Amino acid sequence: MGPRVGRPGAAPPAPFPRPATGAEGLKVGGGPSPSVTTVDVLVVGAGPAGSTLAYELARRGHAVRVLEEHPRVGYPVQCAGLVSERVLQLAGSRAMVLGPVHGAAVFSPSLRSIAFRAPDPRAYVIDRARLDRDLADRAARAGAEFVTGARFDGFGDGPPGVRVARVSHADGRSSEIACRLVVGADGVASAVARAARLPRRIEILPAFEAEIPNSPGDPDRVEIYLGNRIAPGLFGWWIPDTEGGARVGIAARADGTPARTYFERLRAQIGRRFGRELAGPVGFLVSGIPIGSLDRWTADGVLLVGDAAAQVKPLSGGGIFTGMRAAGIAAEVADAALSAGTLDARSLSEYDRRFDRELGEEFRRAFYLRRIFTRLTDEDFERLLLALEEAGTAASIVAFGDIDFPTHVARQLLLQSPSLLRLFPKAVGAWLSRGGGPRAPDLDAGPRRRSAT
Ligand SMILES: Cc1cc2nc3c(=O)[nH]c(=O)nc-3n(C[C@H](O)[C@H](O)[C@H](O)COP(=O)(O)OP(=O)(O)OC[C@H]3O[C@@H](n4cnc5c(N)ncnc54)[C@H](O)[C@@H]3O)c2cc1C
Repeated sequence: MGPRVGRPGAAPPAPFPRPATGAEGLKVGGGPSPSVTTVDVLVVGAGPAGSTLAYELARRGHAVRVLEEHPRVGYPVQCAGLVSERVLQLAGSRAMVLGPVHGAAVFSPSLRSIAFRAPDPRAYVIDRARLDRDLADRAARAGAEFVTGARFDGFGDGPPGVRVARVSHADGRSSEIACRLVVGADGVASAVARAARLPRRIEILPAFEAEIPNSPGDPDRVEIYLGNRIAPGLFGWWIPDTEGGARVGIAARADGTPARTYFERLRAQIGRRFGRELAGPVGFLVSGIPIGSLDRWTADGVLLVGDAAAQVKPLSGGGIFTGMRAAGIAAEVADAALSAGTLDARSLSEYDRRFDRELGEEFRRAFYLRRIFTRLTDEDFERLLLALEEAGTAASIVAFGDIDFPTHVARQLLLQSPSLLRLFPKAVGAWLSRGGGPRAPDLDAGPRRRSAT
């Protein structure tokens, strides 16, 4: 399919409005120039973060164009599709929900487990492609223009205050787009971050997932599998899908072991748990989860959102809620900056500050707990599960569990279970009992190393 301009999956949009951008009449480069269009804002990437931001700016009257390198928004799906109620609220729709999830179980390497079930839904399994398409449709209805099969390649030369994006189209054409603001919503490998020279010292966890069309298991709960042979650095998951299927996958530290190997170990582990092999995996997906924090998300006329900015929850790798919320904050800041004509890095960095005020504390605590988590041995995981079991933690998990703010329940469990706390350095207990905070105790005996996580 060639490049497409218009609504993703709907009738073409109304003619694109062209308010004054300051970039009209721009001559780009020398010689025969490729076609140049001008917009206020160019959003690169039509994932949940990009389409949310495009919607928020388009409905405020800005001329927004969205580039998506794939021919269809939402494909290929690279996600397990487990989200909180907040995501449905931010999307303004429940149409993509396949089913609610009321409970979860966590398994140690020896399959010791703890489980809980809440009276109310704690998460939703969604059709992820549908979420992306619906968010893009909403943005298009607000006036954003989508171009699919169009890849951002980098920046060309432009006058001060104007960013010129070089674009390759699936049909072999190339074009340039002049704009006042470029939003990098282009995911884990962000070309915009690279082109804007925004350093990304992050750890990328390779992920591997498959669909198991026929799986035993409780369709009302998700299962998490811990262990350094299965998924060092994160975990494996079993998530119920529609009609008796499941989404099974891992994300793990990049240690040279192929992600597929870890996936096969998880499949064998789940087979042991169910007492029968999980047969016939289909629809494999291979991707990466960015964990870590960037020094900056903004440069002159550029900002990053979502996976491009590594706005992913460090304890779970989930990034849909955080990316969409960041897009909402970024849109408010960008709207003010576009109106005031101040799109320099300093003005845009108000976005970093506002994100930090809202979610920074959760991220700092989660990074800290993650550093502890990644040091646990398989024996530690056994002790952890035993301690959780003995402390009768199910009620606390129901009371405090929140997939978007997992440190709340982690803190509660650590405080309520002395044997659990004994697994961790003493200083952690003191830090948590003070309510956490930015001054977490140092875990390293030696000099502090700058770490990606
Ligand atoms: C295996 C796996 C399972 C996951 N499960 C969950 C989950 O259950 N719940 C959850 O909350 N999160 C989950 N995540 C994380 C979640 O998928 C991401 O955090 C989320 O998709 C980030 O959204 P985004 O809009 O920032 O980026 P993306 O969704 O990655 O969208 C980026 C878009 O940019 C496009 N693009 C990239 N480069 C260019 C370019 N140069 N030019 C034009 N377009 C470009 C891409 O094609 C893509 O459409 C999972 C991730 C993985 C890998």
